Amino acid sequence: MTVSAVSPTIKSRVLIAGATGFIGHFVAEASLDSDRTTYVLVRPGVATCPSKAEVLRSLHDKGAIILQGLISDRKNMEKILKVHEIDVVISAVGGDNVLDQLALVEAIKAVGTIKRFLPSEFGHDVVRANPVEPGLQMYKEKREIRRLVEEYGIPYTYICCNSIASWPYYDNKHPAHALPPLEHFKIYGDGTVKAYFVAGTDIGKFTMKTVDDVRTINKSVHFRPSNNFYNMNELASLWEKKIGRTLPRVTVTEHDLLAIAAENIIPESVVASFTHDIFIKGCQFNFSINGLDDVEVGTLYPDEPFRTLDECFNDFALKLKDSNKDVGSNGNATPNHVIESLAISEPR
Ligand code: NDP
Repeated sequence: MTVSAVSPTIKSRVLIAGATGFIGHFVAEASLDSDRTTYVLVRPGVATCPSKAEVLRSLHDKGAIILQGLISDRKNMEKILKVHEIDVVISAVGGDNVLDQLALVEAIKAVGTIKRFLPSEFGHDVVRANPVEPGLQMYKEKREIRRLVEEYGIPYTYICCNSIASWPYYDNKHPAHALPPLEHFKIYGDGTVKAYFVAGTDIGKFTMKTVDDVRTINKSVHFRPSNNFYNMNELASLWEKKIGRTLPRVTVTEHDLLAIAAENIIPESVVASFTHDIFIKGCQFNFSINGLDDVEVGTLYPDEPFRTLDECFNDFALKLKDSNKDVGSNGNATPNHVIESLAISEPR
């Protein structure tokens, strides 16, 4: 008899920290799309930021239950996990707050009922990749969280989703917020080292598929969509097709990237050190997935397609068209709506 890896009846109650952030927003949307009861933990005062209030309002309208708190507040986290009978905890806190998860891990251990913890990873395999400083510091902190989770025997899944689908600017923390270049391309090294690009919506979708899947307990889940494996030269050609013209290419050498990393300007130097690791050293593919502690998401869900990078670049081309339309007769872009502040539930 074969046993299904994912029971159709299991729908865990999920708590997401960092849902107002870049990656966390995709995960929260996907959790709601998967019909799971979804709690979103927000820091006090977040609703005063219009763009974050807008994200929260949209999550709330889709059914998210918004709780206020800090993952670094162990007592409050214990209370939240117990009172709301949370099964799965997903953290998508940013690189500056990785160690805030230490208190969250303590709370998860104390409660003892959490079926799965996904710490804030959402990038490279931090045990295998070894960027130069200052990027390395973040990996050391993520490794520290992994060690504690494993020491406490908390069931975990590490999401190693590689790069978000966008132009990989070496100095921009959230490149998917920016259009690919319109004046010239900066090509790292000779532009031939490849990387995997994954749409934000797919990072969310596949992350949520793993949380109730027995095959992903205590595993690193690697995202390696073969149709989205591009080098810089190919990426540039793809964008040139979308905008219908060619752009000059400027080489950023290995030495240039290391020099920017050494300047230690945050976040640019951190991003430069990751860019060096990806596009010079090939950190996303220079190891094999051994099958014991690793699984590849495409082999887990072979019938579930990834959005292609081509489709994602179509979105950028549309944005470009729209942003040209949005520029009014006075040359100014249309202003965004300001969202009124949200009602936030306190833990019961
Ligand atoms: P962001 O900085 O965009 O967002 C961080 C979120 O965490 C915010 O919602 C923030 O709340 C919340 N947060 C921070 N500290 C706390 C705390 N103590 N308690 C509760 N909430 C907290 O993060 P990113 O999306 O950039 O990063 C998330 C993860 O994804 C990281 O591990 C990062 O390395 C990775 N990443 C991967 C990328 C890729 O291409 N694969 C690209 C970018 C990030 P608030 O809204 O109040 O600030």
